[in-house]
Amino acid sequence: MRHYYLEKTSMGKFIESLKEGYRVVAPIKKENQFVFAKVESAGEVELEYLPTVLPPKKYLFPQKEKLGTFDMGDTKLTDTSVEVEPMIIFAAHTCDIEGLECLDVVFNSDPADPYYKARKKSLLIIGFECMVPCDEYATCRTMDTHNPKAGYDVMITDVGSKYVLHVNSKEGKDLLEGNSALLDAGNGEAKTLLAKTREEKLKRFDNKLKPEFSRLARLFGDSYTSPVWDEVGEKCLSCGNCTAVCPTCYCLDMYDKVKLDTTGGERKRVWDSCQLEEFASVAGGENFREERSSRQRHRYYRKFDYSVKKYHKFFCTGCGRCSRTCMAGISLIETVNSLDEENENV
Ligand code: SF4
Ligand code: SF4
Repeated sequence: MRHYYLEKTSMGKFIESLKEGYRVVAPIKKENQFVFAKVESAGEVELEYLPTVLPPKKYLFPQKEKLGTFDMGDTKLTDTSVEVEPMIIFAAHTCDIEGLECLDVVFNSDPADPYYKARKKSLLIIGFECMVPCDEYATCRTMDTHNPKAGYDVMITDVGSKYVLHVNSKEGKDLLEGNSALLDAGNGEAKTLLAKTREEKLKRFDNKLKPEFSRLARLFGDSYTSPVWDEVGEKCLSCGNCTAVCPTCYCLDMYDKVKLDTTGGERKRVWDSCQLEEFASVAGGENFREERSSRQRHRYYRKFDYSVKKYHKFFCTGCGRCSRTCMAGISLIETVNSLDEENENV
């Protein structure tokens, strides 16, 4: 696919051009954090940013949404259409793009979730490649999400004096065609520049997780009864923050909001969390994961074991949000490294 050059001084013009015909959302500074929000003017967009509070999954799988309406006695929902508008997620990190790839496997494969599918269809993703690891919580190098691989329409890479834009889909090609902020880069020189930039970049990305990518699945296969889960469970406050901010967590609850006259109502879905005490409670009072240790283990196994068995993918992108947000100081790096140390000693 095609490559373009973009002069650094033309970035603002480029962003403004995207707003013609699209709702552009991008990382924007809010107090001392970053959030994905609608871009009103190009100057608001932060290209060098720590992972946003919530990942861009909120645009495809909103925190709360109406699924449809019903009248009492109906066997099907009506009014199930999803309002969508053409949207661009701009300057997404490669780890967050991998997060959307994980959600795609869950919501956009057979049978697809119609709400997710409709939003994804009208979405373009423009990535912005990180040149340094975000902070001490990021494990993108071990999770192999530090470089762009798939799931984007256009990727922007800072090669020093300018940006290289790699077009990765027909939609991306159509979007950039004829854009006056861009210069055609051909393929050869741009590819060489990208390869050189990534070779240099790799020296700055360290492996904070001790087990290598290829060993992670086996490590979790051997760690189900580890005492590490009790240690983590002792600290956990069961607040659910770690799952809310995770780009690959997708647990949800559904409920009906019935009208006061009980003639009908609305069906809604809302994000849920496996870390909340009542999450695994069932009728009759049984709770399958009553202990915090078992809920924490479940969270980790959903990232490093169950997803590998079901979808052949790790569902941890290494973004570091869970550790960054945890009020109890539970660190994914420390947990995985403790499992590794314990495993070495067996
Ligand atoms: S954010 Fe921390 S304290 Fe809250 S549920 Fe997750 S691990 Fe537990
Ligand atoms: S488990 Fe933590 S580091 Fe991994 S994707 Fe989720 S929030 Fe990011």
